[in-house]
Amino acid sequence: MKFATKTIHGGLQPDPNTGAVMTPIYQTSTYAQESPGVHKGYEYARTQNPTRIALEKNLASLENGVDGICFGSGMAAMDAVLKLLNSGDEVLATSDLYGGSYRIITKIYERFGLKGKFISMTDPGGVEKHITPATKLLWIETPTNPMLNIVDIGAVSKVAKKHGILTCVDNTFASPYLQTPLDMGADIVVHSATKYLGGHSDTVLGAVVVKDQALADQLHFIQNASGGIPGPMDCFLVLRGIKTLHLRVGRACENAEKIARYLQGHPKVNNVYWPGFESHPGHAVAARQMRGFGGMVSFDLHKDDFDEAKKVLSKTHLFTLAESLGGVESLIGHPASMTHASIPKEERLKNGLTDSLIRLSVGVEDADDLIEDLEMALTFL
Ligand SMILES: *Cc1c(COP(=O)(O)O)cnc(C)c1O
Repeated sequence: MKFATKTIHGGLQPDPNTGAVMTPIYQTSTYAQESPGVHKGYEYARTQNPTRIALEKNLASLENGVDGICFGSGMAAMDAVLKLLNSGDEVLATSDLYGGSYRIITKIYERFGLKGKFISMTDPGGVEKHITPATKLLWIETPTNPMLNIVDIGAVSKVAKKHGILTCVDNTFASPYLQTPLDMGADIVVHSATKYLGGHSDTVLGAVVVKDQALADQLHFIQNASGGIPGPMDCFLVLRGIKTLHLRVGRACENAEKIARYLQGHPKVNNVYWPGFESHPGHAVAARQMRGFGGMVSFDLHKDDFDEAKKVLSKTHLFTLAESLGGVESLIGHPASMTHASIPKEERLKNGLTDSLIRLSVGVEDADDLIEDLEMALTFL
């Protein structure tokens, strides 16, 4: 089955009880049993819910895995993956990590004896020297937020495999339409389905997909034991969002390309970060491991200060100033004061995250209108 067909049919079938073509929202906490222990395979909704299971099967199909395991948020999904580890183990993660991912490792799991080490993975050859006998999990994010750096998933997974270490890829920024890490050697994929999978900025949900049944069983055990499950309504919304994933992400990629090229030619704009440019250091790897360059574009200004960026951020009409990404609507954000404010300025600058850096999540509106909106806002500089 090709990807576009999988978004609509992968792992899904009409409801066996009623024939309902769209997966019903099973809003129930428990299930009637005929006699003690005799039931239809459903006992209690933390453990099994048909709407959630449908979403899990659909995600497994999209990511070419054996099973999906869904959670109440992207962070709850990551939390479950970290629970595969034991006290004393070490996680080796990309340094320009989603802020919440950095926070859960350093502020929660380090209190339980797990250790986090954060390194650049843009050069896969540099990863091996950081591996110790305690390293049990490699955590990759690519493209990264907000600098859109690219990590070679195949090369890094190979290093991990050699040392018997699990590789997990946070695939939120790319979505399975653009990148399927399990095909490249990764063991685990994590999603904030809040972003591209849901795609309409109307729900928060997280997912894990794996290609090994024993690992899937362990994660389902954690899902049931820790209980961070999503509700059936949210599962329904994500299933519904996924049906247009290929159309939405395809259009977002086209729009992002037009906007990146427009910005690159603007006299007030300094750097434009978009992996589709041949001059982008990760371009060759992105071209190989992704089926498009994504809907995210970052740029900074020649006059590099917050006030200058603020003029642009407060003047756009179609681009809404907000956190998050991956919805049908275009968003604009200022990482230095919003998502990355907790990182010291010197650290930010080392990664190119200047005070005037602006991040765009390009939606599926008409590209001409989006460019006109940016053009208008940039006249205030
Ligand atoms: C948003 C996000 C998360 C966290 O997901 P939530 O659904 O907000 O909990 C994790 N990783 C990345 C890359 C994200 O963008």
